[in-house]
Amino acid sequence: MDASRNGPEPRYWEKVGTVANTLRELEGPILIVSHVDPDGDAIGSSLGLYRALKVLGKKVSWIADPPRYLRFLAREEEYSNPVERLPPGATLVVLDAAEPGRVAGAPVEGFVINIDHHGTNPRFGYLSVVDPSKAATAQIVKDLIDALGVEWNPEIATPVLTGLITDTGNFRFANTTPEVLRTAAELVGYGVKLAELTDRLQWRPASYFKALGAVLSTVGFHFGGLLVTAHLPPGLNVEDSDDFVGLIRYAEGSQIAVFFREREEGVKLSIRSRGGVSAQAVAVRLGGGGHVPAAGATLHGVGLEEAYRRVMEAVREELEHAGYL
Ligand code: 5GP
Ligand code: MN
Repeated sequence: MDASRNGPEPRYWEKVGTVANTLRELEGPILIVSHVDPDGDAIGSSLGLYRALKVLGKKVSWIADPPRYLRFLAREEEYSNPVERLPPGATLVVLDAAEPGRVAGAPVEGFVINIDHHGTNPRFGYLSVVDPSKAATAQIVKDLIDALGVEWNPEIATPVLTGLITDTGNFRFANTTPEVLRTAAELVGYGVKLAELTDRLQWRPASYFKALGAVLSTVGFHFGGLLVTAHLPPGLNVEDSDDFVGLIRYAEGSQIAVFFREREEGVKLSIRSRGGVSAQAVAVRLGGGGHVPAAGATLHGVGLEEAYRRVMEAVREELEHAGYL
């Protein structure tokens, strides 16, 4: 059942070196893209690499649509609109995207470099560095920028540190390894204003706070509290609704949390887990993927009720598998 590989990448430094050498020698256009619904790691790792390649004088563009709460990281002229075709001779660098189908902004074709840390990544692309033992794609980008020999400055270090901060839940999740803390210390040493950055990352619009009550009134407990759920009430459209799952996951006694968002294409699920329960396994059962403690899926062409039914089934299986039921 478990199609994912969650261990460290064999020959990691060699692969980072190969990607660095390849990028350094490229003369054609380089396009940087990431995943749909970009998070702090998607935006941070892309923007950091974009700025580093700019320093090297590369013809690089960054195709992105940053969510409102991350827009402060970039200047508007730094990100560009999606493209339907790649320019001739282009290299596509895909960052933090668990699978080709989740890439946003450009077709995944031609010379593709795949840099990611999702265990469920099928290792697509001509070159790939996929290391699930890394807390964030931003950690791999940090190593890549070192290998490129670009001199660090706050402009490059700030987005890279953002990826580490957001994917580790402000250095609180289990992926907060000594490596993460050492890398963060190093990046702060390059002039990142850490307190200002972590504060700014938590800003949300008024609509978010107004929606909180409605969202929390949907909280449900199942399997004796092992599963906690909530959803965005239909008709309510909140920008920056990504971290509602981050609130309900702290329900005492819960081993798994699922947040549901109804969208045009179906229902988007955000899944978090602890205590030997795998959010990733639940997501994979539902056609999605991600990391062991944090994963997601989209249930296409269904409504909330059917989505709840499928989630109950998949979570029951996982709770049984993990010995809770
Ligand atoms: P989130 O709940 O924050 O959207 O996603 C949690 C994690 O699961 C992220 O690392 C994200 O990339 C991954 N993920 C979310 N949705 C999907 C999906 O539909 N398919 C796959 N393969 N991964 C997903
Ligand atoms: Mn990530």
